[in-house]
Amino acid sequence: MKILIINAGSSSLKYQLIDMTDESILAKGIVERIGIPGGKLCHSFGDGKFTLDKDIRDHTQAMGVVLEALLDEDHGAISSISEIAAVGHRVLHGGEKFTASCIITQPVIDAIEEYIPLGPLHNPANLMGIRACQAVMPNTPMVAVFDTAFHQTMPKKAYLYGVPYEFYKKHHIRRYGFHGTSHRFVSARAVELLGFTGKESKIVVCHLGNGSSLSACVNGKCVDTSMGLTPLEGVLMGTRSGDVDPAIVEYIADSEHMTVGEVVNFLNKKSGLLGLSGVSSDMRDVWAAANAGNEMAKITIDIWAYRIRKYIGAYAAAMGGLDAIVFTAGIGENDCRARALILEGLEFLGVKLDPAANDSTRAAEGPISAPDSTVQVWVIPTNEEISIARDTLELIGK
Ligand code: AMP
Repeated sequence: MKILIINAGSSSLKYQLIDMTDESILAKGIVERIGIPGGKLCHSFGDGKFTLDKDIRDHTQAMGVVLEALLDEDHGAISSISEIAAVGHRVLHGGEKFTASCIITQPVIDAIEEYIPLGPLHNPANLMGIRACQAVMPNTPMVAVFDTAFHQTMPKKAYLYGVPYEFYKKHHIRRYGFHGTSHRFVSARAVELLGFTGKESKIVVCHLGNGSSLSACVNGKCVDTSMGLTPLEGVLMGTRSGDVDPAIVEYIADSEHMTVGEVVNFLNKKSGLLGLSGVSSDMRDVWAAANAGNEMAKITIDIWAYRIRKYIGAYAAAMGGLDAIVFTAGIGENDCRARALILEGLEFLGVKLDPAANDSTRAAEGPISAPDSTVQVWVIPTNEEISIARDTLELIGK
């Protein structure tokens, strides 16, 4: 049984073909620069790689190129489209309608369209991916897996903002949260690995990558998360500011003669690690600069860790306790110095790091807390594609 996973962006389309008998990746790749000159396919299969330079008009043509690559005698992975049992699509925003993944039907497409104002960059791109698949493989069932769905269990006290309630009623303004597929995968794996199955558990999941978010999960269900109406809220990220006083927007607009849209764009794309350090949005570059004596890079890393630490403390208070902290995504899985820095000062909560375990755990599942730590601390690599593939398989009922 083979499942194709599609993650469509506005000018890119990422894919993975997964064999569900052993969850192995048969082929994966990305089509870039869709609709702009210099289109390119980078495809990998087993140990091999294949690239194709070709201008690609739209997402439908991109899907055609992907299928050609998957069907190719030399670098493909299937001999007929009918081998693809179903397609799982990553969709950013499911608003309040989608609390779980679902089979894509016309009303689902209409709802994804309805939520375009909440996900103006991603939902249109996700729809292009869905429509492209419908065009090139009309008989293959498709499933939508929403980034927001896992967080729909949050109570009102966590998801409502302190703004007039009519804004929520009229404009759906509330906390939605993102990275839900990752938080769901990692929190479920944590419950399993840490021995919480059938028991009560209070876990903070730290998804720390270029985009970062934390979630507070009680008995495997999300009760709070750091991203909000959009992915801009929360901790400091690669290029996003995270939490700021909202009045900053008008202040910067006036001082720098910008529109509100321009300021928000700045907060999304030119802030965070990049804006503060002036070095890079990539944590490895910021560390390299800090190691070379760049003071601003050092302060940036301190701010980054401090804000994550504050969220962990807040979520321990929100949940009335803390059983485990789990790190995932690019920085969370690989960067032992960053993990140690975040946990500094959390001893009062019962967190005790095992420095040797922390230093040696990289892109692998494992505990990094000392045996006598009352809060277990773990690294659990995320796998959003497998999560999407599992949902897809379950929903098509094969
Ligand atoms: P992601 O968005 O999950 O791909 O994560 C990207 C972030 O992870 C970037 O800031 C990278 O610098 C960081 N990252 C990836 N690998 C490592 C590593 N080995 N050590 C430190 N940071 C890493």
